[in-house]
Amino acid sequence: MWDVAVVGAGPAGSVSAYLLSKKGFKVLLLDRQSFPRDKPCGGGITFRTHKVLREVGLEDYPVERPHSEVLIKGFGFEVRVEHRPFAINLVKRESFDHFLMERAVEEGTTFKRGNVTAVKSEPEGVKLLGVNEYASYVVGADGANSLVARSSGLRNGWGKEETIYALEGSAPLSEVLTFIVDAAPMGYGWIFPRASDSNAGVGGLATKAVEIKRAFQEFSKRHGIRDVKAAIIPIGGIDLPSSAHRIFLVGDSAGMVDPLTGEGIYYAVKEATLLSKAFEADDPVSRYEELLLEVREELRLKRKAFRIIVPRIGFFFKIFAAYPEIARRYMLTSIGEIPFKDFWGWAVKRIPRASFSLLFHRFK
Ligand SMILES: Cc1cc2nc3c(=O)[nH]c(=O)nc-3n(C[C@H](O)[C@H](O)[C@H](O)COP(=O)(O)OP(=O)(O)OC[C@H]3O[C@@H](n4cnc5c(N)ncnc54)[C@H](O)[C@@H]3O)c2cc1C
Repeated sequence: MWDVAVVGAGPAGSVSAYLLSKKGFKVLLLDRQSFPRDKPCGGGITFRTHKVLREVGLEDYPVERPHSEVLIKGFGFEVRVEHRPFAINLVKRESFDHFLMERAVEEGTTFKRGNVTAVKSEPEGVKLLGVNEYASYVVGADGANSLVARSSGLRNGWGKEETIYALEGSAPLSEVLTFIVDAAPMGYGWIFPRASDSNAGVGGLATKAVEIKRAFQEFSKRHGIRDVKAAIIPIGGIDLPSSAHRIFLVGDSAGMVDPLTGEGIYYAVKEATLLSKAFEADDPVSRYEELLLEVREELRLKRKAFRIIVPRIGFFFKIFAAYPEIARRYMLTSIGEIPFKDFWGWAVKRIPRASFSLLFHRFK
């Protein structure tokens, strides 16, 4: 019997397996795909994600291209923000995920290919159906459509209000990492230049899926996007528990992703580090929930910001562009230098004055 079976070898699963193996647990890591495998994703590793990876000794992941400058544009305005040595490292998920999985194996994790169809909790452990395995604990790191989450009763799938719908692909190489805030309704577009091509796409709240598809046709024509893939990012798990009797959810399976940007790798690796800490306690389930409180608090505030800003993005982006200090401070949150709540508290005080002077300038 395994101490811990981790389902899914994306960043959430492999970092969990790596850290739990380091602690001496007997860990099985399962994935339905053989590795290396690709995953629809911009591959943006923000500086704060890098810091978490560095803290646990995983900072030597393969980087396609580091970007210290970020351009945000739309509605006829643009803002540039900079952070050195880099703001965002771009990776190819194929090699990034493979690297993390191999590091878990080096620490003693056993990797097996297998499709888990359901989990069944029993008093002494958890049965993994479809792969005929049994473990004291199971970690569901099986992504946006997690079967562990559904079969354990921790999640019940995602409604459209709880999902970001995205279309992405490969585009010709460009220079500057760019976010385009008027490229899609209730969302944005991105161009992420890698070593020899760019990853580019659009995404937004799934309630606008039809309009997002239409916006992508235009975006795709303009930027020459090929090998198009559609995918979802779940954002609806912020208020739901991420663990139950012997079962834990980490990463997209829990639906705890930044609703403003769709950034999920940070939360996947951060939650994996919290999970491994929880295993130091006698009752890892309640400890994990305690440790997650800070992440939930941040995501709740981001959800609030999303509801205020995104439906009025044209208006707010003008403020953003007119007051680069707002953009600079926002950048500091993704660098991990200031908590989002400090940025938000600071910005909320300034937005009324900024809106007033913007209107004043417009009518002058
Ligand atoms: C278009 C797009 C762009 C994005 N861009 C960014 C970005 O630039 N930066 C960022 O931080 N985030 C981005 N995200 C979000 C990011 O991709 C996810 O948050 C991240 O991959 C979550 O990691 P994970 O380990 O939880 O899940 P995943 O990476 O999805 O891994 C889940 C793994 O589970 C396996 N699996 C699934 N079901 C089973 C099963 N039943 N049995 C066994 N194995 C199973 C899968 O094969 C997969 O390997 C983007 C997402 C999308 C869709």
